Amino acid sequence: MTAENIPRATAKRLPIYYRYLNILHDTGKQRISSTELAEAVQVDSATIRRDFSYFGALGKRGYGYDVDSLLNFFKQILNQEHLTNVALIGVGNLGHALLNFNFHKDSNVRISAAFDTNDQIINTVEDGVPVYPISELADQLHEQQIQVVILTVPSSAAQEVADAAVAGGVKGILNFTSIRISVPDKVLVQNVDLTNELQTLIYFIDNFSK
Ligand code: ATP
Repeated sequence: MTAENIPRATAKRLPIYYRYLNILHDTGKQRISSTELAEAVQVDSATIRRDFSYFGALGKRGYGYDVDSLLNFFKQILNQEHLTNVALIGVGNLGHALLNFNFHKDSNVRISAAFDTNDQIINTVEDGVPVYPISELADQLHEQQIQVVILTVPSSAAQEVADAAVAGGVKGILNFTSIRISVPDKVLVQNVDLTNELQTLIYFIDNFSK
């Protein structure tokens, strides 16, 4: 069984299972029933049993699931043993905050390179991450096999920088700028507009909260 054979809906639940199994593992628990797991992760037990059935008969009737073998299985599928490097472009206030954020604590992701146009920080190490001139983007992405970039440049530079990242071969962009960037279909974009999120929340509080 490889990740490609698993239905998308199941694949999306794997990180949820994986995290919880890690917690169980850390507390020394060796087995869990699908009912217990269902309560903990808020997915109904029939769905859990079906999801797990895609991985073969890992559960035993009256015993439940073996935490360690499930965990090992998920590790392979989710590629957790392998560290994924991502890059950040634009080391301003938000960029610094993200460089400081310990993504690695809860995932297999880390920011291994940052890029900027500011001479003051180029070729220095900021928050433990080397900052390269933007002119080296394509080379570094290639060298470090980076497929995902985090975009924290000013909105005015977002499209130009996104184009450069696409030209450098990235497959995904986490876009923190307030503009919607255009990319080819093969590139995935996730937008995180913090101002927008906050305003939406305030709007809902003002208009719909009792
Ligand atoms: P933030 O918006 O994250 O709070 P800021 O207000 O400190 O940041 P911005 O003007 O938004 O600063 O710029 C963010 C960073 O993006 C700066 O470090 C800036 O040098 C960098 N930057 C600007 N243009 C580009 C570009 N074309 N390529 C790479 N980095 C850029």
